Parts: sequence; C-alpha cells; structure tokens
Amino acid sequence: MPSETILYLLAIILVFLSQTILQSNYSKYRKVQSVHQIRGCDVARIILDRHGLHDVQVLPSKGGVLSDYYDPTKRTVNLSNDIFYNSSIASVAVAAHEVGHALQHAEGYSLIALRNKMLPATQIASQFGWIAIFIGLFSGLDSFFWLGIILLGILTAFQVVTLPIEFNASSRAIVQLTENGIIEESEVFSSRKMLRAAAFTYVASLISSIIQVLRLLMIRGNRRN
Ligand SMILES: [Zn+2]
Repeated sequence: MPSETILYLLAIILVFLSQTILQSNYSKYRKVQSVHQIRGCDVARIILDRHGLHDVQVLPSKGGVLSDYYDPTKRTVNLSNDIFYNSSIASVAVAAHEVGHALQHAEGYSLIALRNKMLPATQIASQFGWIAIFIGLFSGLDSFFWLGIILLGILTAFQVVTLPIEFNASSRAIVQLTENGIIEESEVFSSRKMLRAAAFTYVASLISSIIQVLRLLMIRGNRRN
C-alpha cells in the first residue's frame, strides 16, 4: 500500500476512534447521576451568577446530542436537551465546560482574541482550501497547489489555537464544579474523564489535519518523480 494511503487511513481511524471514545464516555456518564442532582441549566446559571455574568443567557440548543456551545456574539450558553435538563455527570461537566468559554470571554482570555482574529481567514480557507488543492493537482498549476497548502495550514493553525482554549475551559469547569459544591471530590475523576474524551476529539482532528497536509505533499512529490 502506498505510504500516503496509509497516512490517509490513519487519519480516518484516529478521528473515528476519538468519536467512539467520546460516545462511549457520554453514554456511560449520562446514566451516572451526580450526587447533588443539579441540572445542567442550573449548573450553568450558578457558575455564571457567581461571576457576575447575570446577563449571559443559558438556552436549550436546537442541535442534537453534544451540540453544546457558547456563542460569544450573542453571549449565550447553548446546551443540548440531554445536558440542559439532566443532572448526570455528563450534564454537569459539559454545562460547566461551556460556561468555561463564557468565563474566558468575559476575562478577555488572550487566545480567544487570537482565535477570533483568525476566524475570517479560517472561513475563507475552509471554503477554498480543497478547491485550490484540486485545481493545483489536476491542472499541474503549482501556485494553486501551494495556495491550497497555505489555506489548509491556516485551518490547522486555527485548530492549534483551539486546543489550549478547550483544555482551559475544561480545567475551569472542574474548578467551578468543585468550588461551587456542584460535585463532590469523589466525582472529579468521572467528570474529568468525560471532558477529556471530548477534548481528545479536538486533538484527533488536529493530528488528522496535519496528516492530510503531509499526504498532499507526498502525492505531489510522487507526481513530480
Ligand atoms: Zn469547548
């Protein structure tokens, strides 16, 4: 098998594996009730209020399972149904993680500002990156190929910046959950495990992006020889 095909398969397996790990942790911890039985929406409200963020709204999101996110433009914490209405370990951990992003935003956490600055370029890169690569590879026009590589590089850089933001939101979540008495010390391990599984999907997609760029460079190298 050509080495670029092996790389491609590795990237697919890694992303698939991270999704499977997340799903299995989620289906496990959504069934484990937290001791104090505080629902995800109330967890979010408690932590936000303790930080004086009374105007940040907590809303049920319209998306599916694990579609939870913090919207910095509307300043809303959006929680999927399962997380919003339940008080499982998964619910309290994910709710606190999303609030972690609201806290980062309120504090002016430096990497958030950097990521927001990168956002317009990232949107262009995600629209035109692969198109440029394909034009470059099939027409033999090198400048298109390299433009595509630069655009994919921007996407990868965005993922690199996202990673510490995600880890930071998760460690804030654990601190807030324990400091505010939402979980007991005995529940820290499982809450952290749930959030680590979620963070691993970001690590996997970053590694997969790096592999994709390497693979494209190898394909081009092979064509030249
Ligand atoms: Zn996050």
